Amino acid sequence: MKISSNFDAGAIEVLSLDDPQAIRLRLRSDNAADFHQWFYFRLLGAAGKPVRMVFENAASAAYPDGWQDYRCVASYDRQHWFRIADTRYQNGELVVEHTPERDSVYYAYFEPYSHERHLDLTARVAQSPFAQVRDLGSTVEGRDLDLIVVGQPAPGRLPVWLIARQHPGETMAEWFVEGLLERLLDGADPLARRIREQAMLYIVPNMNPDGAVRGNLRTNAAGRNLNREWRTPDPVASPEVFLVRQEMERTGCGLFLDIHGDETLPYVFFSTAEEVPGFSAEAAAAQARFIEAFAAVSPDFQTREGYQPGRFGEELLTLASKWVAHRFGCVSLTLEMPFKDNAILPDAQVGWNGARSKRLGAAMLDPLWRHLQHSPSRARD
Ligand code: ZN
Repeated sequence: MKISSNFDAGAIEVLSLDDPQAIRLRLRSDNAADFHQWFYFRLLGAAGKPVRMVFENAASAAYPDGWQDYRCVASYDRQHWFRIADTRYQNGELVVEHTPERDSVYYAYFEPYSHERHLDLTARVAQSPFAQVRDLGSTVEGRDLDLIVVGQPAPGRLPVWLIARQHPGETMAEWFVEGLLERLLDGADPLARRIREQAMLYIVPNMNPDGAVRGNLRTNAAGRNLNREWRTPDPVASPEVFLVRQEMERTGCGLFLDIHGDETLPYVFFSTAEEVPGFSAEAAAAQARFIEAFAAVSPDFQTREGYQPGRFGEELLTLASKWVAHRFGCVSLTLEMPFKDNAILPDAQVGWNGARSKRLGAAMLDPLWRHLQHSPSRARD
């Protein structure tokens, strides 16, 4: 038997592989920070053998509550990912028991979204007559920070910003963007046509490509949690936020969406902006309208479960959506999707996954359209 992880987003530490019934593993930390929870590795030579894999440091993961009712994902072909039913958290360890059908099997924390797929997505989008791909600059390690622009510049258009994957281990966020873009760039979709006519959309499919390639959970190559950098981004240590914020100051912002995954809560929910100082009653009404419109089109989304008020404390305005709500006074939301399953619409086979994230992304066009219809800056010259 062999375990390898020296590939795009691969991450694991192997302590012992001597006994298939006691494979000892450790979750590997981000390259320049202590966060650990993401894993992705290949197991070779175990076809037909019952294996028992123990992640010994699961209790010190970034979100240990994330292991409760969690089920590991696996794939033989790296296209179809399924859940391993026999996954449990006990005595501070994550234990996964599985009998692989093939000699090569991949295990991961969640369905990966590779850097190659990211490059394919931006290349495909660049072929669309409705979109442009612009380079905002470079990440800490010199990767391109891609901005997708949809819509023709014209007076009165509402600038809409959507960013994803500040936390690189939250791959569902880029699956979401892929689904949103497929619908937004569909020449036959009437809602997409109207949105393209009336808004300027600025979309960053992956805010943290360095962290994504490195298999980090939460930070960029310099160890920065990008979603705590928005008040004072550092051009050297957090250029990803610095560059996006700079461009946003140039374009303005009339709606902002920041796409994430949550390790603990088995729901799709928004983190909203009421707590942001100066958030107006008008913005709150527009926020409520947006949320209602999303709930009307996606039964995967709900508003009962979510974060408690005060969760971010003093850090509030260092978070992207809170900083934007404060700076631009617009509807500004963080969307969270589960790493586990969606408890209100569970799927025992796959749990929450890439395909479901894509459908959710496509559904986001409906509240966006509703928002545009109510937006004063839609008025034409
Ligand atoms: Zn996140």
